[in-house]
Amino acid sequence: MSFEHTRTTPSADDNAALLSEVAAEVARCQACVLYKHALKPVPGDGDPNAAILFIGEAPGRYENQQGKPFVGAAGQFLEDLLRSIGLRRDQVFIANVVKHWPPGNRDPLPEEIATCGGFLDRQIEIINPQVIVTLGRFSMAKFFPGERISRIHGVARRHRNRMVLPLYHPAAALHQANLRRTIEEDFKRIPAALAEAEKLATPAAPIKPPEPAQTPEPPPQQLSLF
Ligand code: SF4
Repeated sequence: MSFEHTRTTPSADDNAALLSEVAAEVARCQACVLYKHALKPVPGDGDPNAAILFIGEAPGRYENQQGKPFVGAAGQFLEDLLRSIGLRRDQVFIANVVKHWPPGNRDPLPEEIATCGGFLDRQIEIINPQVIVTLGRFSMAKFFPGERISRIHGVARRHRNRMVLPLYHPAAALHQANLRRTIEEDFKRIPAALAEAEKLATPAAPIKPPEPAQTPEPPPQQLSLF
């Protein structure tokens, strides 16, 4: 399975520049209270042209210190999961639904997610991934509101022109050992989701116009001999 983009996409340099603009705006943002408590913004990082975008929930304590998503134990587990399907971290893009650390590692509030959503929307638009993998219930709810992750995890669904695969958050496996196997199994469905997304991107074969109806040749006239 190739994880390379098969579409014609803007250059990685163009996307990197656009993503840097988003990151710079995140660094200046004071649209919700979260910036007040944070040490560093965590806009997200990875391949600007990635075929697969992972979306987590919010920066944790270590992410807040380093300005990078998924570091620490959950980040290490995510890298192990990526390796299990032949991927490296620098081949995907990783972001969160909110870009600053909620104090005390609390859940992000609905109004914070809504206020921050424009940054994530722009990242999705720039990267234009074929597959989005949501990690945890907050990013799942962006695409499948009202669903329960315990019901839909591991099943990729079409969302507009791409596939979205909802998974449990890797940190959940660190706290609930019985979820570890589930996440490992669900992760193996990413290549199939990518193959499905590639089919969506493949233009349908042009429909051939029907052949004009053949008018039967009139039978040759018998020449009268008389
Ligand atoms: S979490 Fe998002 S909306 Fe809130 S201050 Fe940070 S960048 Fe702005």
